[in-house]
Amino acid sequence: MSDGRPHSGLRTPDSGVKSWRFTEALPPDATFPTPADSHKTPRDQIRPRTVQKALYTWVRPEEQQDPELLCVSPAALKDIGIDPEEAKTEEFRQLVAGNRLLGWDEEKLVGGYPWAQCYGGFQFGSWAGQLGDGRAISLFEATNPETKQRYELQLKGAGMTPYSRFADGKAVLRSSIREFVVSESLNALGIPTTRALSLTLLPHSQVLRERMEPGAIVLRFAQSWLRLGTFDILRARGNRDLIRQLSTYIAEDVFGGWDTLPARLDNPPEPVDASTPKRGVEASEIQGPDDAAENRFTRLYREIARRNAVTVAHWQAYGFMNGVLNTDNTSIFGLSMDYGPFAFMDNFDPAYTPNHDDHMLRYSYKNQPTIIWWNLVRLGEALGETLGIGAQVDDPTFVEKGIEKSQEEEVIARAEKIITQVGEEFKSVFLAEYKKLMTRRLGLLSFKTSDFEELFSEALDTMESLELDFTHFFRRLSALRLEQIATPEARKEIASVFFHQEGPPKLVTEDEARGQIAKWLQAWRSRIVEDWGEGSDTVPAAKDEERRAAMKRVNPNFIPRGWILDEVIRRVEKEGDRKVLDQLMHMALNPFQDRWSGEVHNGAEYQGNEEQEQRWTGDVPRFERAMQCSCSS
Ligand code: AMP
Ligand code: MG
Repeated sequence: MSDGRPHSGLRTPDSGVKSWRFTEALPPDATFPTPADSHKTPRDQIRPRTVQKALYTWVRPEEQQDPELLCVSPAALKDIGIDPEEAKTEEFRQLVAGNRLLGWDEEKLVGGYPWAQCYGGFQFGSWAGQLGDGRAISLFEATNPETKQRYELQLKGAGMTPYSRFADGKAVLRSSIREFVVSESLNALGIPTTRALSLTLLPHSQVLRERMEPGAIVLRFAQSWLRLGTFDILRARGNRDLIRQLSTYIAEDVFGGWDTLPARLDNPPEPVDASTPKRGVEASEIQGPDDAAENRFTRLYREIARRNAVTVAHWQAYGFMNGVLNTDNTSIFGLSMDYGPFAFMDNFDPAYTPNHDDHMLRYSYKNQPTIIWWNLVRLGEALGETLGIGAQVDDPTFVEKGIEKSQEEEVIARAEKIITQVGEEFKSVFLAEYKKLMTRRLGLLSFKTSDFEELFSEALDTMESLELDFTHFFRRLSALRLEQIATPEARKEIASVFFHQEGPPKLVTEDEARGQIAKWLQAWRSRIVEDWGEGSDTVPAAKDEERRAAMKRVNPNFIPRGWILDEVIRRVEKEGDRKVLDQLMHMALNPFQDRWSGEVHNGAEYQGNEEQEQRWTGDVPRFERAMQCSCSS
């Protein structure tokens, strides 16, 4: 850095490594062939329309008056590689509001320029046609110099684009707070997600939804903002050359090269790492006559399917629901994304959907794995001919003209077979990941086949019938000492820690409820003893402490539930409260702590609001459980 300001070795957005790989590699909307064409167009003349044969349109954010920077995620600063001091500068405030374009030469009209992506999607199972970034505008890609991770930085709520359809290109403060907080919360929980750097209030922007609401902008970032819906639109329009070009861009530029992509797995895979899904065997290991027909596009399909399997396993293990799992909200990178009516589970109920308009329960908790696979089958169809053509994928006639009539039957059969095989892999990767996560959440060191039925299913059934809180169940279990549950009487006595304040639901007696929990605790205890007891019939106190600490590291004490977000939104919007957002973010970014106020954080004692911390980690107020949300945002 050249400005002489104190810094931590990190950099400023101005000086950092920026790129525009996406726009370099893929074709723009022909209405504005160059950034200069777009820049010279009055901003209010860039209006919704159909965009053909393109993956994006050059478009700049609208100017914002007096943007107020409400909150910045320290974790996001670190991951992008920006000096925390930088976030306090005027340049940063203007950048994250969309008022500064980095890399663009205003005089000469050359350089990197912002863009909005074109995509389509299946919404609630029906083809919806062209969607696209209707209110999101990407600025540039930034590479963290230490981790080498490259992110695409994007403003949500920055104004109209050709993809705004009948809407206004704006985002309201309410939904911006929700997206900002949940992105960073999921990341802190180890769940693959798009991220959020900053939240900006637009004081002069009033946006009409069900009522007039303040407008806001979130700067969000991801390794890729491409969605399954990006392929859907190309397929719907028969743009087979663009499907090939897009696939190549994803393989080479997003995933780091074709040869890193996985070949077929014959055996269920090893459990995979949460943040970076493990790749399968190397391409060179492909064997057998059948596999010889498997080309690199099939491996790309596998990679995308596997990443999504890993992510949906996290949602199921942590009780998270996106609420609108349309193909345009399903990431090619396997990230949780596009947060509308999302929620975390309160009382465990597999049929719960946070989406008020989801009458068929399509996007309910229990349906998430199936729906993600349904979306991935749409991707398989978009890639169909490239999968099915097998070894001839680079044959010049195929590349230019597609399959011949005589090849049809064989190509379709092969594509179907591949999709089915990838479906099997999706299932096994999902299950392996789910088992790994649940095993950890229950404090076990190993997985036994019988655990699935006797511990996982029994725990969920118990939670469901006794209306227990899903997150509290795991956290309170983590806090128990084995010596507290050594006898049947002790287990029954302590069972009430899992109840809500008002006790068990009216349909069961308290004694029955305690009995049911005690029975499960007995089964759990014997598995803990088996895993941690080193051969004896009990676990030494020191080992048990180790087990409790390990459980607390994976079972959050804090998650941003709907009622907490509602309270924060009200206080920020109506009461002008500014502290509360930082307090909420501090808990969301450090979700596994027992307490926050008074704990040392970054070398200093953290001063929050202790009463609030207890309230937000305690019982969910009775009438605010399992809230639902409409899609209007
Ligand atoms: P979502 O329901 O957020 O996944 O959005 C579906 C589509 O509608 C996407 O193409 C969005 O960009 C677009 N969209 C949603 N809200 C707005 C808005 N206020 N202005 C412009 N486009 C929007
Ligand atoms: Mg969307």
